[in-house]
Parts: sequence; C-alpha cells; structure tokens
Amino acid sequence: PFSSSSDAIRAAEQFGAHNYHPLPVAIARAKGVWMWDMEGRQYMDMLSAYSALNQGHRHPKIIAALKRQADRITIASRAFHTDRLGQFYRELAAFTGKPMILPMNTGAEAVETAIKAARRWAYRRKGVPDGEAEIIVCSGNFHGRTVTVTSFSSDEAYRQGFGPFTPGFRIIPYGDAAALERAITPGTAAFLVEPIQGEAGVIIPPEGYLREVAALCKRHQVLLIADEIQTGFGRTGRRFACDHEEVVPDMYVLGKALGGGVFPVSAVAADRDVLEVFEPGSHGSTFGGNPLASAVAVAALEVTVQERLPERSAKLGAYFLRMLRQLQSPRIRDIRGRGLFIGLELNEPARPWCEKLMGAGLLCKETHERVIRFTPPLTVTRPQLTWAFERIRETLCPD
Ligand code: PLP
Repeated sequence: PFSSSSDAIRAAEQFGAHNYHPLPVAIARAKGVWMWDMEGRQYMDMLSAYSALNQGHRHPKIIAALKRQADRITIASRAFHTDRLGQFYRELAAFTGKPMILPMNTGAEAVETAIKAARRWAYRRKGVPDGEAEIIVCSGNFHGRTVTVTSFSSDEAYRQGFGPFTPGFRIIPYGDAAALERAITPGTAAFLVEPIQGEAGVIIPPEGYLREVAALCKRHQVLLIADEIQTGFGRTGRRFACDHEEVVPDMYVLGKALGGGVFPVSAVAADRDVLEVFEPGSHGSTFGGNPLASAVAVAALEVTVQERLPERSAKLGAYFLRMLRQLQSPRIRDIRGRGLFIGLELNEPARPWCEKLMGAGLLCKETHERVIRFTPPLTVTRPQLTWAFERIRETLCPD
C-alpha cells in the first residue's frame, strides 16, 4: 500500500478510469460519523456514501454479523437454498410491509428488475400488447447507470455517446401530477419515481404529489414504483419517503443502506401479483441474496429499527435545517430538506466550497453543480451536528 495521500491519489488518477471527480483526500479509516485520511486528519462524513451509510461507518452489530457469516459460508448461489436467505426475505418483508422480495446487488440492478417486472406485469396482467409496454419517468431523475436506465435520463451528461438506447420510456416533469395523468395511455405499465430526487439536488415535490400520483396510478391500473434507494431506511425521517404522505407504492426499489454500509445489497419489494411474473430462468444474479449479503442486510435492518434511525433523522434533521436556515449569505440560494436529507443550493458552483469545507473537517460532495448535500450518518448526535454547523458557518459566512 501507499504511505501518503498524494501517492495513493496519483496512482488512482494514473491507473483508474476518470468516471468520478473525487475530492483530493484519501480516506484510510472510518468509524461512526468520522473518517481519517492517510495522514490521520479527521473529517466528519457528510455524504454517507450517498446514503449507503445511514447506520454509520462500521457499525459494531453489522460488522459482527459480517464476520460471523464470513466464518460460516459466504456464497452458495441461488442454485441452492441457504439458511440465511429466507430470514432476509422475512425481515425485509416485515420492514416494507410487502409480501415478496427479489434480491439483487446494486441499485441500478434493482431498478432494472423493477422495469422487467412492470413490463411482464403489463403484458400478463393488464393485457398490454407484447412489446408495447411503456414506463413513465420524471425529468431530473436518477436511477442508475446501466444502458437501459441511462436511456430515460434527462441529463445529457449521463447519455452522451452511450446510445442506441432502450425504448419504452416517457419523461414528464417532476412534481406535476396533472402531467402524469396526461401521459398515461392504455399501454402504460408503470410510473417510476423518486419520492424526493436526490442526485438532482434534493428536490422535494409539492405537498400531496405522491398521494395524487398514487391515486392516478390506482385509477388507471398503472404500477407505482418508488425508487427509495437513496431516500429509504430512515434517511428522510420516516422508514420510506413515501410514508410522509401515507403512500404505499406497488413496488419499492431498495439498495444502499440495506447493505448497512458494508456490502452491496439491493432488492425489489412488491406485491405477489407483481413479482410472481418471474419464473425460474427469467431473471437472476449470481451474487444476489448470498448468505453474506443476507446476514448483513438483516443486521442493517435490525440496527435501523432498534436505534430508531427514522425518528433520529426526523428530529436531528429538523434541528440541523433550522440552524442552516439561520445562515445569511448572498451566496446561498436555498436550503431545503426532509430529515437528514438536506440540500444547500448556492448561486455559484459548489465544488470550491466542498473543497473549503474539507479544509474545515467536513467531507461533502456537490451534486448538480450548485448543490451541497448534507446527509450524515443517521447515528450522528446533536453535538456533532452543532460542530458541523459551526464549520459550515465559518466557511460559508465568515464575518
Ligand atoms: N436510484 C437512486 C434514487 C439513486 O440515488 C441511486 C444511486 O445514487 C441509484 C438508483 C443507483 O444505485 P447504484 O449506484 O447502487 O447502482
């Protein structure tokens, strides 16, 4: 291994594809909300690996589950049952209230799974003519990076040079229920939506939007697919962001914090008549639902419930948002959030400010040019948030 951050960063730049633009820091260790670079400098993690770390870095119960399972069996493939998968299904079904689960590894794979399920459901249950099923999505969406998912992105940077694309998607404005009603046709299989758009810059739709689209979907026999990969597992102050409007989608697409910050685990949780469209041979993944992933996910869910992470997020998020809203600066355009899912929009590029915040001991990442996302682990304490706020105030609004 390298012995200095600059050597490690130089090697990464030299040998790695440049598909990310990381801050110039090389993290070597982490615990809870803290991370340390190779020189031992300490930072608070204000990104939580894009919400994969809701339970904090190296949560002792999750790491213990990982180690225990690693000493028994790690993978068997789905060619055989294991002693862990049924337990994972049962716990995730209980957590989501959905009776059936299909496990995958990454978020994008879970989105692909939901798309396949919705198309088959449209042909077999709704009677849409074969090959004509359409899925409605929103502008500004982010659902992952595979070719099909990229096919319905409205962001040119995500698409340019990657065609030809997968047909069968229609893009409507986000937050506009009337636009959904206009876009629905007899061939519409599903509406795929983020209850709060994360990568677009923590965009919260108007009050009542989710309830309205849920009612429209029901009326027109269209599946409502909620991509809760980033918003789920307490991030927004409820178990799921849909809970804020008492909406239960037909399908939850889940990932990130389901793996407790240690392992890629994703899943679709849905009603039986949706996931029953899959028979053996129609879909799968070598690593999906492996015993290590299952044990980790069970522990991640347990921690989420036992430590009341949704409630913590609601309370601490309201506190942090209140503090941030006190900031007075012509640079700040908007501060918005729900729970510990907070976006601070600037009137100028956010990247230089993320670099300055790094110098002050906070690791944040810009999203969409002008937004800084504040999404610490949900295990963060009030004094830690006060500390973070002081660093933000000193940096953004020096007297
Ligand atoms: N969907 C949403 C809402 C996301 O935020 C992300 C990742 O940021 C994804 C899907 C894709 O997940 P993954 O990067 O694990 O493929």
